[in-house]
Amino acid sequence: MAAYIADRDGEMCDDVPELSDSDDEQWQPMEEGSENMTVPCVLCDRTLTSVSETFKHCKVDHGVDIPELVRKHRLEDYGYIKMINYIRTTKCSAESLLLVSGSLPWDSDEFMKPVFPDDLLLQIDLEELSGAEAVTLSTSAGDQAALLLQRAKQAEDRAQRAEEALARAMEDLHKLKMLAQGLVLNADTSRGPSSLGAIAELREDEDEAYFSSYGHYSIHEEMLKDKARTESYRDFMYRNMDVFRDKVVLDVGCGTGILSMFAAKAGARKVIAVDQSEIIYQAMDIVRSNKLEDTITLIKGRIEDIELPVEKVDIIISEWMGYFLLFESMLDSVLYARDRYLAEGGVVYPDCCSICLAAVGDTQKHNDRIAFWDDVYGFKMTCMKNAVVPEAVVEVLKPETLISEPAVIKTIDCSTVSVSELEFTVDFTLTIRVSTFCTAIVGYFDIFFDKNCGNKVMFSTAPDCTKTHWKQTVFLLQSPISVQAGEDLPGHIAVHKNRKDPRALLITVTLAGQKQTYSLQ
Ligand code: SAH
Repeated sequence: MAAYIADRDGEMCDDVPELSDSDDEQWQPMEEGSENMTVPCVLCDRTLTSVSETFKHCKVDHGVDIPELVRKHRLEDYGYIKMINYIRTTKCSAESLLLVSGSLPWDSDEFMKPVFPDDLLLQIDLEELSGAEAVTLSTSAGDQAALLLQRAKQAEDRAQRAEEALARAMEDLHKLKMLAQGLVLNADTSRGPSSLGAIAELREDEDEAYFSSYGHYSIHEEMLKDKARTESYRDFMYRNMDVFRDKVVLDVGCGTGILSMFAAKAGARKVIAVDQSEIIYQAMDIVRSNKLEDTITLIKGRIEDIELPVEKVDIIISEWMGYFLLFESMLDSVLYARDRYLAEGGVVYPDCCSICLAAVGDTQKHNDRIAFWDDVYGFKMTCMKNAVVPEAVVEVLKPETLISEPAVIKTIDCSTVSVSELEFTVDFTLTIRVSTFCTAIVGYFDIFFDKNCGNKVMFSTAPDCTKTHWKQTVFLLQSPISVQAGEDLPGHIAVHKNRKDPRALLITVTLAGQKQTYSLQ
């Protein structure tokens, strides 16, 4: 699979001047016609003899590099003028100036008014910083023409790189179209067991439906609007910035790029964001729109198929969870990334997860779904129950229908778990709280951001917690079981990937002598 790497140099929509280390020289000639004027420093009472002297003084004596601020905040003419007037008006400190990030305190138009008449600092031309060479007001017409030519050449180069990027994207699109039109999904179910797992071994065409579902915006909208989910990732990263400072982070399955952007804001030195679905083209725009393209590198491809531009990463972040935690089997891909790219001592976040079960007593719903088939307009359709019961139902469960304590049936340590451990069988016990009929078993999961975190974060998809887009997974019993408060109801569960579709699950529950296999697909 050809990987598409977002071209940081292809700054199609970047019209902000690039400042270089030699900016000081770039300002120099501008003042040749103004030898008799003086420039009051913006940060102290000193008066200097030129703009360049002033910038040098600000940098050396106050630690404030004004051309660098222009670059950092991507200021254009008015923004720069407002910043200078703001500093002069408010007499703000060098420290506070350096701390400005996000919204600019000089945004208001009131700062368009000069503090000093004829302030030389306001008479420079920002445009001239963007040229590779210095330009002056006294530059000859010939030099001006040469500079214009040079700029035209730069613009042409940028356009060419943009065209190349577009061509690569079109090529990817074409490949997908070809797959959709002609290729027949080859459901080869004869794979033997492998340490990599069935997901890593899926061919690109076999997994196409999965990734095209993530190409549509709506699934990402649903995930982003799931506040319990998204805010947990955000809070984990923003409240544990020490964990991210200067780290190289891999985002497996970046989608719209939201987790990568949280990581960048949390101080990561570099974020590599990978996704195989078409949504990554949106992520490329999103990252650029938020001016994070210098930190976040986006790569289109399956993590299993591509080559990262680094050997190792310090942190892996991913939102891989599916219904009943393991549906979709995307954790396999995260574990692949962990084993291939995580540096010694690195961490995968979330680092810990658990799957829980609880007993449900909801006779009304059971009647509505199961007993219903006993008498449909006077006819028996009882056989239909055999089609209804084996399908696990993903729905929001009313918390008042829970009738047992929860039982944790699986704990996953993402740093150590292996793909083979994601299929398991286990005994469990449900301690019943209410004397009633048990009509179903509910499954849900909890997620923890724990390791190395001063401020630990977790969220739960339990019925009595804030609703998430994962809802709960309900396994209806064929026949309700009479239970007593205080009773321990023993059970057994086996969770396996469906060999015909390794992203789907087959879950067999045994409870009070009833054994039922459920599919989640
Ligand atoms: N991180 C985003 C999206 C999560 S959804 C968010 O939190 O909003 C999971 C994403 O992982 C999907 O966009 C899917 O296309 C991608 N994905 C799943 N398996 C992948 C793999 N093996 N390689 C690359 N991307 C993968």
